[in-house]
Amino acid sequence: NTILDVKAIEKYYGSKGNITKAVDNISFQVNEGEFVGVMGPSGSGKTTLLNVISTIDHVTSGHILINGRDITTLKKNSLSRFRREELGFIFQDFNLLDTLTAYENIALALTIQKVKPNEIDKRIKAVAAKLEINDVLQKYPYQMSGGQKQRVASARALITNPSLILADEPTGALDSKSSRMLLESMEKLNTEMNATIMMVTHDAFTASYAHRILFIKDGKIFNEIVRGNSSRKE
Ligand code: ADP
Ligand code: ADP
Repeated sequence: NTILDVKAIEKYYGSKGNITKAVDNISFQVNEGEFVGVMGPSGSGKTTLLNVISTIDHVTSGHILINGRDITTLKKNSLSRFRREELGFIFQDFNLLDTLTAYENIALALTIQKVKPNEIDKRIKAVAAKLEINDVLQKYPYQMSGGQKQRVASARALITNPSLILADEPTGALDSKSSRMLLESMEKLNTEMNATIMMVTHDAFTASYAHRILFIKDGKIFNEIVRGNSSRKE
C-alpha cells in the first residue's frame, strides 16, 4: 500500500536568468509502515522537498499523491484540512505551545476534532507509555528537557493517526543521548504503532535509524540505501 507517491516533481525559485532548481525532477514512493530517511548536505533541497510534501509550499511541476489524493491540485481550504487529518509533524525546534502542559499539547488536535475526553485519555496513555513520557505529562515545556519535549512532540504527531509523519531534523536541537532516545521512540512509533515516517536530516547517525535512505544533492536523488544494500541511481 503506497502512502506517498512523488511523481517527477520540480520546484524552482527565482525568475528568468536567475533560477534555482531546488528540487530537480524527484520521484519516489513510500509504502505504509515504512521509515524513510532523506539525507543530503545543506542547500541540497531537503527543506524544499519537505515543504512541498507538507503542502506548505507548491511544486513548479509534477504530482504528489498522499494516500491516493493528489495534493498538488487541492484548493487552499481542502489543503489545511488535509494537512490536519492526514499529516503529523515533528520539527527541529519542537513547536510545543508554552502555555499548555505536555498532555494538553498532545491532546489539542483531538480536542479540536471534538474527540471525547475519555478516548483522548486512552490514546495519550497508550502512546505515553511507549515513549516513556508518563512522568512529564503534567509539565510545561519549560520544565522539560529537549529530549522530553521532542518525545512529547512525537506523541502529538502520532495521536491523530495520520497517514504520514514528516520529521524535519528531529535531532537537530538534541545532544547525542537524547537523540538516541528520540530515534528509538520514533522506531517504536514505526514498528509498534505502524506509523509511516519520512525524516529529513543532514546527520548520518540520525539517518541510520531509517530503514531506507534517499540521498539528495543539487535537488536530485543520487543514491538509495535499503538496510545495507546500496544501489546507485543515475
Ligand atoms: P536544504 O534544506 O537541503 O538545506 P533547501 O531546500 O533549503 O536545502 O534549499 C535548496 C536550494 O534552494 C538552495 O540553493 C537554496 O538556497 C534555495 N532556496 C530555498 N528556499 C528558497 C527560497 N525561498 N527562495 C530562493 N531560493 C531558495
Ligand atoms: P535547513 O536547516 O533545513 O537546511 P535552510 O537554511 O536550508 O534550513 O532553510 C531555512 C528556510 O529558509 C527554509 O524555509 C528555506 O526555504 C529558506 N531559504 C533557504 N535558502 C533561501 C534563499 N536562498 N532565499 C530565500 N529563502 C531561503
